[in-house]
Amino acid sequence: MKINSAEFVISNSKVAHCPKSTLPEYAFIGRSNVGKSSLINMITGRKSLAKTSGRPGKTQLINHFLINKNWHLVDLPGYGYARVSKSAKKVFQKFITAYFEERKQLVCAFVLVDSRHEPQKIDMEFMQWLGEHGIPFCIIFTKTDKLKPQAITRNIANYQEKMLEDWEEMPHYFVTSSTAKTGDEEILDFIENLNKEVVK
Ligand code: GDP
Repeated sequence: MKINSAEFVISNSKVAHCPKSTLPEYAFIGRSNVGKSSLINMITGRKSLAKTSGRPGKTQLINHFLINKNWHLVDLPGYGYARVSKSAKKVFQKFITAYFEERKQLVCAFVLVDSRHEPQKIDMEFMQWLGEHGIPFCIIFTKTDKLKPQAITRNIANYQEKMLEDWEEMPHYFVTSSTAKTGDEEILDFIENLNKEVVK
């Protein structure tokens, strides 16, 4: 899929205030600093559609972007950042879970994980929660330019092994680097194919 247009629509913390449109949408979520803003900018080909933050935890709203006038990309708040106070964190979690529970337009969530790290408990728990709620998701491994090819393969195999302790199969996944600009076409083609299914 080629990106012809990418426009900011609305930011808010209430699912009820999200766009009423029934266009298919795709949500991007992950731990703060995982590289979500950089990835969104890469796949949309826009330098600063999503703000890349020096200060993690900054994007604490549900952000809708209209892509090619026919689907929504949703930038969700990063989770699990320690500097956000416990009570504030609870609020974020509540509206994030409300988003997933209520947003019928959601076709697939993309859970971003840093390819350099061991599987993290918070990501595992979040994916578990998505699974329990029947929400389709994929994994996006980020920042692979920071690893040698063998290390990428090893870390993903390690991740898969961990996932298979709880899951029957490894979710569909993408291997990306916003710095090296890799993995964007695969994600966009995947979305394009799902969009075709949805509008059938
Ligand atoms: P967010 O908090 O998840 O939105 O993460 P950002 O996109 O703001 O990125 C967090 C930090 O990681 C920034 O310093 C980025 O420059 C850096 N970063 C993001 N993606 C990549 C990548 O693919 N490769 C490398 N080397 N650094 C990245």
